[in-house]
Amino acid sequence: MAASYGTRMICEECQSEDGYYRNILKKLLCQSCIKLDKYTLVSKTNVKKDFFIKSELLVECRHYVGYHNHQPTTLYTLSDVLSHFCAIYNIPHDKHHICIKRQQLMDEFKVAREKRRELRLASKNRAAIKRQTDLIEALNKYQLEYDEKNRLCRSFVEGEVGFGVGVNITTTMDDIVHRMCQMKFLYDYCHMEYFLNKIQKKDEQSYEISIFRKYFGYKYGNAIYYILEKAEKMALDAYGCPSGSYPPHWGWLT
Ligand SMILES: [Zn+2]
Repeated sequence: MAASYGTRMICEECQSEDGYYRNILKKLLCQSCIKLDKYTLVSKTNVKKDFFIKSELLVECRHYVGYHNHQPTTLYTLSDVLSHFCAIYNIPHDKHHICIKRQQLMDEFKVAREKRRELRLASKNRAAIKRQTDLIEALNKYQLEYDEKNRLCRSFVEGEVGFGVGVNITTTMDDIVHRMCQMKFLYDYCHMEYFLNKIQKKDEQSYEISIFRKYFGYKYGNAIYYILEKAEKMALDAYGCPSGSYPPHWGWLT
């Protein structure tokens, strides 16, 4: 090609003198002609998104290679896309029919997407109800009641990953039940409430907690876990059996 990019030449379409060399199309075209359907380029992604044409239907179609974010992208001319569109959807090749068909496809797509969303939600809800039922049953075996306000129980039912003191990321239902037993032991047998109050009064504004907040996130929740962890240790040291540990068997079950 004789002309380099940016050099003004004769437009190959309208013969005007203000053509530019278009790298992707490898043609000299003016600012008006480049806007024609036969020179307007549509990316493969937009063909799928805006014209509902699967890429495999365009395998035989003439294409160009452009670059988007330094990645090669396949481009088709708008006129080729519209021809395929009319052939695939069996409509006359005119703006009116194309416009109506595209709107119809867009509406159908939105309805289908909403339906998929509803199905996903329903399935998620079913799974949550199942987890809740299973958890209630598992807790009952240890004479514990399900508490929907409890963050551990709630996170398990809602299908979140485990978090919090004494719970690892891979939290199973057994882990939750076990932790709930530990909590019952702490509150009913080890005066956990007393230690929590004691630490909160003493440490709420302490250097330790301010440092903790600074380095482990400003979330107050983190500080709460920190307090819980400290209180747990103190309660177990004072009332654990043996001291510092949980008992091998839970007292309320015998
Ligand atoms: Zn032109």
